Amino acid sequence: MTAGSIRQPIIAVDGPAGAGKSTVARKLAERLGLLYMDTGAMYRGLAHKALRHGVDLRDESSLEDLLTHTVIDLYRGRDGQTEVLVDGENVTPYLRTPEVNASVSVVAGYPSVRVEMVRRLRKLAEHGGVVMDGRDIGTYVLPEADVKFFLTASLEARARRRQKDLARLGYQVAVDVLAQEIDHRDRLDSTRAVAPLARATDAVMIDTTNLEVDHVVDEMLSVFRRVVGE
Ligand code: C5P
Repeated sequence: MTAGSIRQPIIAVDGPAGAGKSTVARKLAERLGLLYMDTGAMYRGLAHKALRHGVDLRDESSLEDLLTHTVIDLYRGRDGQTEVLVDGENVTPYLRTPEVNASVSVVAGYPSVRVEMVRRLRKLAEHGGVVMDGRDIGTYVLPEADVKFFLTASLEARARRRQKDLARLGYQVAVDVLAQEIDHRDRLDSTRAVAPLARATDAVMIDTTNLEVDHVVDEMLSVFRRVVGE
């Protein structure tokens, strides 16, 4: 938000799987009265539809075609969580299953899929007023963001958080299995050709391993206020 700009602020929150991005980004958005956008949910929505329709995940052009014919909407549910509509159907309960976890980074790795997703994400953010979390928001989707954060945490802490999330959905998965899955996904996300997971040079890094959620949010708020001069 440059001086004299009328656009609402844009905050980018990136980092590897399980670093706590969605929890803190949602709270930060609430505290600042901004919209929260979970970009991973868009990729998950597409991966889920591909699995459901039996689309060959090795075939980039089929996935590109599928996305062209797919409407993905994010909205804020009653409890503040992101709800995802794919072609009008609420698919939120199916987006964090082991099957989607195992395929989403493959789907998200295809350049043609990313081009279209990034076009949609930029459109959603064109008037500002958003906190967007993902892998490439500060580096690629919205490099003009006013404030950028890069969240990290140890692999073990991230696997433990995922274990709790999955337990809430009724899946019991061992921590070491989750650590392997997260590590594999991070590797795919960090090494893909287009817009890999990376820290923007101007992003503020926060290691959340031993921090409470509210502490992280407070720290982000104080960075935001310092940067935008509130
Ligand atoms: O954030 P979440 O774990 O839900 O993201 C799921 C996957 O979606 C990531 O592992 C990554 O492959 C993909 N993704 C991406 N770019 C983003 C957000 C998510 O490639 N901006």
